[in-house]
Formats: sequence, C-alpha cells, structure tokens
Amino acid sequence: MEPTYSAEAEAYREKIQAFLAEHLPLDWKGIGALPGPEAVAFRNEWRALLAEHRLLAASWPAEYGGGGLTPLEQVVLVEEFYKAGVPAGADHDVFGIQMVGNTILQWGTDEQKAQFLPRIISGEDLWCQGYSEPNAGSDLGNLGCRAELDGDEWVINGQKIWTSAGQTANWIFVLARTDADAPKHKGISFLLVPMDQPGVEVRPIKMITGDSEFNETFFTDARCPKENVVGGVNNGWGVAMTLLSYERGEAAATFPITFRAELDRLTELAREKGVADDPLIRQRLAWCHSKVEIMRYLGMRTLTKFVNGDHPGPDASIFKLYWSEYHRKVTELAVDILGPDAMIPSGRWPSNAFQTDDVGAPNDSASWVGTFLVARAGTIYAGTSQVQRNILGEMVLGLPKEPAGVKGTWRELQQVRA
Ligand SMILES: Cc1cc2nc3c(=O)[nH]c(=O)nc-3n(C[C@H](O)[C@H](O)[C@H](O)COP(=O)(O)OP(=O)(O)OC[C@H]3O[C@@H](n4cnc5c(N)ncnc54)[C@H](O)[C@@H]3O)c2cc1C
Repeated sequence: MEPTYSAEAEAYREKIQAFLAEHLPLDWKGIGALPGPEAVAFRNEWRALLAEHRLLAASWPAEYGGGGLTPLEQVVLVEEFYKAGVPAGADHDVFGIQMVGNTILQWGTDEQKAQFLPRIISGEDLWCQGYSEPNAGSDLGNLGCRAELDGDEWVINGQKIWTSAGQTANWIFVLARTDADAPKHKGISFLLVPMDQPGVEVRPIKMITGDSEFNETFFTDARCPKENVVGGVNNGWGVAMTLLSYERGEAAATFPITFRAELDRLTELAREKGVADDPLIRQRLAWCHSKVEIMRYLGMRTLTKFVNGDHPGPDASIFKLYWSEYHRKVTELAVDILGPDAMIPSGRWPSNAFQTDDVGAPNDSASWVGTFLVARAGTIYAGTSQVQRNILGEMVLGLPKEPAGVKGTWRELQQVRA
C-alpha cells in the first residue's frame, strides 16, 4: 500500500527536492558517509541554511521564525530530508523545537512566545529537559525539586538526573514542586530556567558506550523570573504531558524511513559476512522486514491523525513501544551476524547518540555495536515499555486502572514513604 498525497503536497515535495538538489553535492550519500568532524561541520552549516530558508520549525508561524507550513507539507519535508540522509535540525532541536518550543506554542503567553521561540530557531538558546529525579522517573508525579517565590523570582532547590545534552545547554525546562500540600500531580509548575548561573551545577554521567551524553543537574538557590512559568502556577502536570506527547509522537514520519535504511544496511552486512543464506538468519531478517513494514503503517495512521489537526495523544505510546522494542531485536541480530567481530569493534562509531546510525553510515562493526548499546536505552527514555503498556491499557483500551495506592498531599506521601 502506498499513500497518495494531495496535488498541493506533491508540488511542495518537488520544491523540497529542488532545494536538496541545489544545496547538496552531486555525490551525496547521506550525512553518515561523512567522517566525524566533517559531519559535525555539515550539521551546523545545514542548520543555519534551514533557519535562513525557514525550514527549521517549519510548521511554526512566520512571526516566530517558522515557515508556516501545513501539517502535510511538514510531513513531506521531513520525508524528503530523511530519504536524502540530511538532518531536519541539530541534536538540541529535539529539546528546543520539538519539545519545549511546540509546548510554548500551545501553552505559552504571547510574551513567552515572542521571547523564547525566535531564540530557539536562531540557536542562541540550547535547551535540555529537567524532568527525572532519583525518586521520580516512571512515577514522575512524585518529583521533589522545589521552587518558591521570592519577590519577582522563583528560587529553585533540588536535583534532576539523566539530563541529556545538559552539558551544552544554556536553558532547562524544569518541573518543580510549587505546592507540597496539594495532591502530587496538582502542585507542580513548568519553569523555564537559565543554566548559566552559579546555582546550577551539571555533572556528567558515563554511559555504557563510554560517552557522557547525559548528566545529573543540581539546583542550589537557582533563580528564574516569576513570569517564566508556562501554563500557570501549579498547572505544570498538563503542560508536562503535552510535552511528552510531542516527545513520543513526532517520529511517525521519519522512523519508518530510518529503520528501513538501517535494515537494508543490515541485509547487506549479512551478505558481506556470508550468512545471508543461513535459514535462521534469513528468518530473523524476514521478521525485521515485517516489523518495519508494520511500523510504516502505524506511522501512516499517526500521520493521518496529525494532518487532520489532532495532536498526538496517548496512542503515541503504540509507536514508541513498537519502534523501541524492535530496535533492541534488530541490533541483537546485527551483533549475531558480526559474530566475533562484535567483540573487537572497529571503524566509525555511530554519530547519532540515541537512535539508528545516520543514513549513509559505513557497515563498520563499531557502528553496529554502538547502535546495539544505545538501543538498550530506547525502551527506557521517554517512558519505559512497561509504562507505555500501562498508558495503552488504561487510556486507550480502557482497562481497569492500577490500584491508586495511598491518597493524600505530596508532603503526606513523603512521610508514608519515609
Ligand atoms: C538515554 C536516556 C536519556 C534520558 N534523557 C532524559 C532527559 O533528558 N531528561 C529527563 O528528565 N529524563 C531523561 N531520561 C530519564 C527517563 O525518562 C527515565 O529513565 C524513565 O522515565 C524511567 O525512570 P527511572 O530510570 O527512574 O526508572 P524507574 O521508574 O525506577 O523504573 C524501574 C523499572 O520499574 C518499572 N516500573 C516503574 N513503574 C512501573 C509501573 N507502574 N508499572 C510497571 N512497571 C513499572 C520500569 O518500567 C522499569 O523497568 C533519560 C533516560 C535515558 C535512558
């Protein structure tokens, strides 16, 4: 089955193809084919070019630096970019554009939109996400990092953990407890906090790959202006959930393309290693093929809702659960195909910290082993698989809810825990 797009959308596709033909070299194979430093330089230059042509945050209104595209044009844009193996933005844009930017557009005041959105597009502000804490991961509503008003400023004290890209960001969106005497989901506010101040300390955490892409973040009397609360004081839970649905939902257009490219590369690896005729390997490759095809159909379903003007809701969990569980399996197959080579990985390591390697990446053992390792994280970040299943069971299928546990204010619950 191939979806048909409207004539206007196809006309826009031709425009994007012409843009790519104009700006990419003739022998372009995808950003993954570039050596590390060249890929970094390309990514930065490409981002600046996209901003100049209003193709970053392409669906945002023009007054905030966006392109004012329709949802379908935006889908066509990312499809063409991913097919060509060029990024739709820089790594930070996941936090800046996709998460906090889209959320400010939906919940923010006019002043917040005017202040923050253009600076995200210009790249002056690099964002990271301050949600998780040592005692608040899946049970995010238990968070204890607190913010108190002192005159015209919020004063923030507490700790966040697993702050991806915190080492390079200059802003962090923080979920903070602003009323400890309300029920746990009701006393939370969503704050926009500058990181370049003495009260914010970022300590790197070393990952299994050897990189340090995420961090612990400590707040000691850190401050932000009173107006930097999004969606109203003590109303942060709804804002936080909007942001999570953007984090889980926007991959529907791109992942079927990147996972297809990855599987094609794996099939090639099986040929190179002489195991493409092994019946057990073939069976596992066929299983992967069927999964990627189903992912494509799931993506189309999500996109159909999206182009009809629906925001991603709890059913975004279907896609998140599906791709992250699949990615563990396909990368385990890659390691089995590599055999002993996986023990001594060589060549280029993946350039993409938490996803498939980039389109055009060489079939090096280091690329596959690195991707195998980061695929373990996919079923944890943006909500674990168990949590996605709970959401689907309770909010999509309408099954009975988990037992509610002890009732009371957040402060009373801490006393019960202690
Ligand atoms: C690579 C990576 C990047 C991340 N980046 C960020 C970031 O930038 N900012 C940020 O704030 N956070 C980030 N996180 C944190 C992530 O959101 C949390 O790890 C995740 O929400 C799980 O929380 P936890 O680690 O505390 O595990 P826990 O919540 O302690 O869960 C432990 C286990 O118990 C299971 N479990 C928990 N509750 C239930 C339940 N009710 N029913 C069934 N099973 C349950 C879980 O599924 C899991 O298997 C990142 C995590 C990773 C791995």
